[in-house]
Amino acid sequence: MSYILLVGAGFSGAVIGRELAEAGHDVDIIDQRLHVAGNCHTERDEYSGVMLHVYGPHIFHTDDAQVWEYVTRFSVFKPYINRVKSTVGGAVYSLPINLHTINQFFGKTLRPDEAKAFIEQQADTSISDPQTFEEQALRFVGRDLYEAFFKGYTKKQWGCEPSELPASILKRLPVRFNYNDNYFFHRFQGMPEHGYTALVEKILDHENITVKLNTAFDPSMTEQYDHVFYSGPLDGYFSFSEGRLGYRTLDFERFTYQGDYQGCAVMNYGQESVPFTRITEHKHFSPWEEHEGSVCYREYSRACGPDDIPYYPIRLVKEKEMLSRYVALAENTEGVTFVGRLGTYRYLDMDVTIREALDTARGFLDCVENNQPVPAFFVKPL
Ligand SMILES: Cc1cc2nc3c(=O)[nH]c(=O)nc-3n(C[C@H](O)[C@H](O)[C@H](O)COP(=O)(O)OP(=O)(O)OC[C@H]3O[C@@H](n4cnc5c(N)ncnc54)[C@H](O)[C@@H]3O)c2cc1C
Repeated sequence: MSYILLVGAGFSGAVIGRELAEAGHDVDIIDQRLHVAGNCHTERDEYSGVMLHVYGPHIFHTDDAQVWEYVTRFSVFKPYINRVKSTVGGAVYSLPINLHTINQFFGKTLRPDEAKAFIEQQADTSISDPQTFEEQALRFVGRDLYEAFFKGYTKKQWGCEPSELPASILKRLPVRFNYNDNYFFHRFQGMPEHGYTALVEKILDHENITVKLNTAFDPSMTEQYDHVFYSGPLDGYFSFSEGRLGYRTLDFERFTYQGDYQGCAVMNYGQESVPFTRITEHKHFSPWEEHEGSVCYREYSRACGPDDIPYYPIRLVKEKEMLSRYVALAENTEGVTFVGRLGTYRYLDMDVTIREALDTARGFLDCVENNQPVPAFFVKPL
């Protein structure tokens, strides 16, 4: 049996660790933070009792039945539908843009077919091959909806003009021609009853797993182990020798309220003149609970500095060039596999993180069984 080190006790580290522990390996998991669950960490506010999503709101949604089965093994999931609102120009609209939004925004009473034809008239059909986010949005929805719901929000979120971002960010038509305001399309959606940290603690609860918190990775640690899975920042592993991979970070301005502050979990602010992107009211993420007090976060996005928490990888041309140099370094490093959102420098939803972690553990076990070298990446970052 092997002795394995996992760096990071988020979903990546926890799921890989659990799978390897169940296969009989001895697993140590370290995390530099004082809690498990990584950025999905939840904790109860000691005054109001509200479950807080400390690093920003997390809604579990997936089409992957196996992943759903996996998470529901470790926690009851309560029904939750993400319904997002947006305050723009003195009115509140429903997102993603749907028939209600269109009718309200344009002061109309269109039926689905009429709305489809109407939006086609709005769309800028002179753009045949959209290259940028802006062109893609103008091509899909036209200028009015683009400026109200995408332009300001995207500028605040990414800190650049939407014309500098690739079209791929807006993959499909962000409009529904019915009154469905469920933000996600996925078959399964819900919230773990006692939060994500309790769920991850359950995953880590295995006799072959030892968790050490408040413990940062040190390269000398690798000597004691047969293999290391690293879910920390890829550039950090190599002491930023090629430069720092660009991220956006978030600042949360917390405030409390007696009662119900905004009546919903997520209220976006599309206008550029409002400095924050959204306000989240955390008790609405647990609609089965009742709390008099309320805790809200105003969310601001900005460039990530060396001491900030990296949230969203930027992945434009410059970053991808740097990333390719780090990938080459990683591929020349023996005994370490880079995993998860930071280890592969990609935005990953939780369900994708868990799917990749399950596949990575399977891949590792196959390598061990067949006496093959373990790759630096089971999922290529580029
Ligand atoms: C604002 C925001 C909102 C999101 N909302 C959703 C959502 O609604 N639904 C959804 O499905 N997904 C959401 N996600 C994605 C979700 O956060 C990720 O899928 C998940 O966190 C990835 O898990 P991970 O284990 O790869 O990384 P992380 O959760 O980041 O865990 C990595 C861990 O490694 C530790 N670590 C790093 N470096 C070191 C080191 N040197 N030594 C020791 N420990 C180290 C860190 O402390 C951290 O705990 C959201 C992400 C963001 C940024």
